[in-house]
Amino acid sequence: MGGHEGTPLIINLAPTGMVPTKEMTPHVPVSPEEILEDVAACRELGVSIVHLHARDDDGTPTHRKEAFAPLVEGVREIDPELIVCVTCSGRNVPEVEARSEVLELDGAAKPDMASLTLGSNNFRRQASVNSPETIMALAERMRDAGVIPELEAFEPGMVLTGRLLMERGLVSESSFINILLGNPGTSPLAPSVLAAFISLLPAGWIWSLAGIGRYQLDANALAIPAGGHVRVGLEDNIWLDRDRTRLATNVDLVERVVKMAELCERPIATPAQAREILGTRARVAQVKAA
Ligand code: ZN
Repeated sequence: MGGHEGTPLIINLAPTGMVPTKEMTPHVPVSPEEILEDVAACRELGVSIVHLHARDDDGTPTHRKEAFAPLVEGVREIDPELIVCVTCSGRNVPEVEARSEVLELDGAAKPDMASLTLGSNNFRRQASVNSPETIMALAERMRDAGVIPELEAFEPGMVLTGRLLMERGLVSESSFINILLGNPGTSPLAPSVLAAFISLLPAGWIWSLAGIGRYQLDANALAIPAGGHVRVGLEDNIWLDRDRTRLATNVDLVERVVKMAELCERPIATPAQAREILGTRARVAQVKAA
């Protein structure tokens, strides 16, 4: 794994997700205004990627592109350099058509990246089903749309599916992959488990770590000195402390990452540096022209 060698840390903010509701925490941003307010505040702290989910007016997760457009456009107004990643999750909807609708957005509403889960897995109350055919179809649509996949792996074996996509020319040799640990039904958070994922990654891939629920803090603390990047936010974890006495805000969670990076003497990537690392530099000119 090595150390971080001074590589700037990419902080990927996942502010909303599909699960948290206002009943669970008043801090989860759900409307476009709330989401953009959190994005702006967290941008000031050092976030360089935003991983967005859209909700309908009643708070239900939606794949409608009309719901994503104001989010993506709003982020562009906050900072055109910020990298926008949209979800193509199949947690509520398995159909490729619905999940990839957001890839049709164009101009300032066009996302830079989209999430691509590399297999099927169980969450506590629900299965997330991604058949080989679906993964392939989503990867093809992302390639055709010029949107970079944000790969997601819940088990080390899912990395092999990512390798297969690379061999078929569907994802790049310098892909960005989110490793998600601590979900009750899949890989637990442990250094040995993380090492298993990393041992399977192609040499040029860039990894980021996410911890589900109480493991978010541990995941942050594991990734920062090891040279990985971090995903953080209320999508994965709504509590600030282990004993679940204090509900977190997105700002709280990002501030904690920034503090840890300081302790590890690791600089925080600006959005421009993150684009350099991920190879999405060219997009900015398109965004500014749109
Ligand atoms: Zn997500």
